[in-house]
Amino acid sequence: MNKNINTVVIGGGCLGCASAISTQRRLRKLYGIDDKQVCVIEKSMIGSGLTARHSGIVRAANAIPKAAKLAKISIDYWKNLPEIWGVSCDFDANGALWIAHDTKHGKNEKWAKLSHSLKKLNIAFNEIDKNQAREICGNTIKFHDEEIYYYEPGAIQFDPSIVRDALFNALNRNNIETHEQVSVEGFISDDNGHIKTVLTSAGDINCEHVVNAAGPWSPALFDALGIFIPVSTEKVNVVNWLTSQIDINVNMPIIADYTNLAYYRVWHNGEIHMHQPRHRNIRETARIFSEHPLNITGADFVNEPSNQYLGYGDIRVYEEIAKKRFENIEKAVYGSGYHSYFDITPDLKFILGQDKTVGNLFHCLGSGQAFKYSPVFGEIIADCITGEGKHLNDIEEFSISRFDAEYMKYFWDQVSGVDNTLETETISL
Ligand SMILES: Cc1cc2nc3c(=O)[nH]c(=O)nc-3n(C[C@H](O)[C@H](O)[C@H](O)COP(=O)(O)OP(=O)(O)OC[C@H]3O[C@@H](n4cnc5c(N)ncnc54)[C@H](O)[C@@H]3O)c2cc1C
Repeated sequence: MNKNINTVVIGGGCLGCASAISTQRRLRKLYGIDDKQVCVIEKSMIGSGLTARHSGIVRAANAIPKAAKLAKISIDYWKNLPEIWGVSCDFDANGALWIAHDTKHGKNEKWAKLSHSLKKLNIAFNEIDKNQAREICGNTIKFHDEEIYYYEPGAIQFDPSIVRDALFNALNRNNIETHEQVSVEGFISDDNGHIKTVLTSAGDINCEHVVNAAGPWSPALFDALGIFIPVSTEKVNVVNWLTSQIDINVNMPIIADYTNLAYYRVWHNGEIHMHQPRHRNIRETARIFSEHPLNITGADFVNEPSNQYLGYGDIRVYEEIAKKRFENIEKAVYGSGYHSYFDITPDLKFILGQDKTVGNLFHCLGSGQAFKYSPVFGEIIADCITGEGKHLNDIEEFSISRFDAEYMKYFWDQVSGVDNTLETETISL
């Protein structure tokens, strides 16, 4: 292992790999620094954390304009991956159909506003009628009254196993020192509070910069340095339904069904993949944080097989939801399923950029929807480390500084404050 290095990236998920690849390429481009100036330390294997369980969906529509802007840039980067990572990765350009409740005379004001704000960012997200939706999706999809439809033609989808291969290839191609089965165990700081040495299970590494891409493991890891990282995990089920390839349109767009709260996509073999979205309710999010204090327990339970098993009831619930959308689900066969985990923050936005106390530490954490942002987040970390680049003005909203004492008090009041006392609970019974 190299004992002196420019940047240590902790975590070999999609965000850690992307950060390492972009930083290595940038250092080489700006300063002509030799290869092997960036290393990735991964305690398990590349792509074995949350990155092993995503759905491969890359869409730009997002109610947070800065997040939508970054997602759009990311789609462009994914399409031009050889320029960003030096390798390519195949994808399907099937677009995405969004389904919402008709809240008033064939309209949904919130979604109309979203469409309008996305238009300003040059993201096509246009209302279409039922016939157009049917034309795009094929006739196995059920459409109902009191629904409205939006189409995002620019959405793309990946096969996660191909992405994992691309991550490996890009690390190799860019000569990034990659250490699997090596765990970061602690840090030594200098007099300015900067991290000067990263302590690992395979020896110490002196460095100039550290990137935290340890996802839900980061609260426990950085607790020792007194850094509070508000990330927790929200459990979600995933089911793949086997369908007949005669029955299903394998070019079906991604379906984001907000009437039944389910995302669907089709794998190349005709399996329908489904899972539910994150809870969007702050009270529910706060409850999850109170039940999963990861700074104490860590996140190793994510890879524990007994935590990944789906029960009969879980599968039946998904079957009922899927039947509302797919004609052929009566005949579909349960293919596979598992529990998975979204990485969540109190406001469900990601954490990006410089730490508020440790000047040479940079966070790259996803918040439940990060795969899609991998190439742009990698470029952002390279911008932060080198202090130059085009994305630095887009990340203030996602700084870890926002989680100050005042915000956290407001957040915790959602589970333990006046709105949630036994008296108010009993009144609502
Ligand atoms: C069901 C489901 C579907 C999803 N679908 C999508 C989707 O379609 N599109 C999308 O954009 N997002 C999706 N996501 C979200 C996405 O999976 C995650 O946001 C993303 O994978 C997070 O990547 P990461 O690199 O931050 O984390 P991880 O992949 O978890 O990487 C963190 C790594 O850090 C390592 N690590 C931890 N501690 C240490 C240590 N001390 N030393 C060394 N290494 C350490 C871990 O082993 C791990 O490999 C989905 C999530 C779920 C649950």
